[in-house]
Amino acid sequence: MYITDLTELKRVASGRDEENDQFRSWLKDKDDAGTDALVHTITDKVSTAVNCTECGNCCKNLIIEVSPSDLLKTSASMALAPEEFIEKYIETSAKGTYFINTIPCHFLANKKCTIYENRFTECSDFPHLTKPGFRPRLLGTLLHFETCPIIYNVIEEVKTTMGFVY
Ligand code: SF4
Ligand code: SF4
Repeated sequence: MYITDLTELKRVASGRDEENDQFRSWLKDKDDAGTDALVHTITDKVSTAVNCTECGNCCKNLIIEVSPSDLLKTSASMALAPEEFIEKYIETSAKGTYFINTIPCHFLANKKCTIYENRFTECSDFPHLTKPGFRPRLLGTLLHFETCPIIYNVIEEVKTTMGFVY
């Protein structure tokens, strides 16, 4: 049974930094390709059981980067010129990178994305668990351990399956 309630998630996931640091160190001796394969299998299972449309917590917490191709696609889908989209929805960093200018995201309503088919690459890729390199990216993944049910449940099942003991 996976944890999906966000209050319960916060309760069980908080205060686990030391344990998760030890897990990261413990993983260094393991075969990265084997770890990735296991993470991908468990992620597929957990993602089927956790309904993102009942959660939306990442959309309330993440700083969303918008790539130039995202900008063109999403602004066109809203019948806006890219300049109008930037004016309304974008903050630009000193390096010229685009970010959505509100947290929670403008496009979240009732825990659902109102531009789902045209959401940004960062949104569709999150929580990045089916990419290669689980171990080297784990520190970043753990930033969302207390807020993303998929991340929490996958990491806990990976620990158990691999035999990690804290
Ligand atoms: S664009 Fe949609 S999926 Fe992306 S953060 Fe906003 S509401 Fe969430
Ligand atoms: S990716 Fe995680 S935080 Fe985002 S909606 Fe799905 S379960 Fe919730």
